[in-house]
Amino acid sequence: MNKEELKCPYRKKCGGCQIQNLTYEKQLSFKQVKLIKLLGKYHHVNEIIGMEHPYHYRNKVQAAFGERKGEIISGVYQSSTHTIIPVDNCLIEDEKADEIIVTVRKLLKSFKLRPFNDVTMKGFLRHVLIKRGFSSGEIMVVLVTSQMEFPKESQFVNALLSRHPEITTVVQNVNNKRTSLVLGDETRVLLGNGYIEEDLCGFRFRISPKAFYQVNPTQTEVLYNKAIDLAGLTGNERVLDAYCGTGTIGIIASQKAKTVVGVELNPDAVKDAKVNAELNCVKNIEFFEDDAGKFMVKAARKGEKYDVVIMDPPRAGASLEFLRCLVELSPEKIVYISCNPETLARDLSFLTRKGYRVRKIQPVDMFPHTEHVETVVNLELKPDLEKRFREHIGDLYE
Ligand code: SAH
Repeated sequence: MNKEELKCPYRKKCGGCQIQNLTYEKQLSFKQVKLIKLLGKYHHVNEIIGMEHPYHYRNKVQAAFGERKGEIISGVYQSSTHTIIPVDNCLIEDEKADEIIVTVRKLLKSFKLRPFNDVTMKGFLRHVLIKRGFSSGEIMVVLVTSQMEFPKESQFVNALLSRHPEITTVVQNVNNKRTSLVLGDETRVLLGNGYIEEDLCGFRFRISPKAFYQVNPTQTEVLYNKAIDLAGLTGNERVLDAYCGTGTIGIIASQKAKTVVGVELNPDAVKDAKVNAELNCVKNIEFFEDDAGKFMVKAARKGEKYDVVIMDPPRAGASLEFLRCLVELSPEKIVYISCNPETLARDLSFLTRKGYRVRKIQPVDMFPHTEHVETVVNLELKPDLEKRFREHIGDLYE
């Protein structure tokens, strides 16, 4: 069988890879057509950039633990349910991470530790989360447990390490709530420094257990390079990196900008972002922990000026508050990175009615075999007269 057309044996039960039944080529056209339908009215949609080897691309792997017929199982939740589908080998996950998860499962049995049962709320291990730096080689294992007390903790960690010496850090996270969220509030480092580092676009980034980091590093480089390219920086710009996560895009952009400001809601990500700026000796960047919408309101009130706004919101897209203030701040350029074309289309509809025009739409396939697609869009402020006219027309339609 052609390596590019591997079929997943868990496909029907798992449901995570919604379009695994299509060849990779067809998957790309499926996404292309979807994007043309949603975004085609704003601009020509460039051809989606696919992956050369669209397998085992995920650097972050999560497994739920449970019990079936007296046996410990680990795997993924069936789409929209709480049923665990046992999976030892996922076609999109990092293979080393999958091996480590199988080892943890075997160790649980030999250490007589029980997996957590979310009905009785009894048992010890709930999830295992693994993050791997593909280029740095660093591996973090997060053991999500229902309690802080970890019986035979050091023997367990040693046993894990003797089987996988490539693990660089092991962390315990405690989640004792009735919740579908994987991670709880408390984290304790059992081995190493509690985070990994990874290289991306020539910079080094710290990734801690809770902070967001793109899951497909190969395509992330493609995406970020496109985004920075579209920002058209010359070294004189004041740039805002909104929804900045651990500061990746802003730090990469900082080389070509005068100053960069990053805003992000997750405190762990902001901490990482500050460390990342230091790690890369970047001095012209500042990070703020805030809701991006609220931050924009304050910036608009203070009459701040940004030449370029790079925004990378979560699936829900940007809030209306954010968009309104963005228009008020009127940066010359907006680079919108989106993981959800539906909310992207909604937000583009607003921005194009408020004085912006779309100059480029570039999709990147960050999530092969799933229906998800990442898109980067470049918008430019229209000349002033036309902008005011458009604003007026836009208001009539609101
Ligand atoms: N640009 C980053 C992160 C993008 S993911 C990267 O490429 O790595 C979206 C980020 O938005 C997440 O880090 C999430 O914590 C953050 N976020 C979600 N809602 C937010 C809000 N209301 N205000 C600011 N940041 C938010």
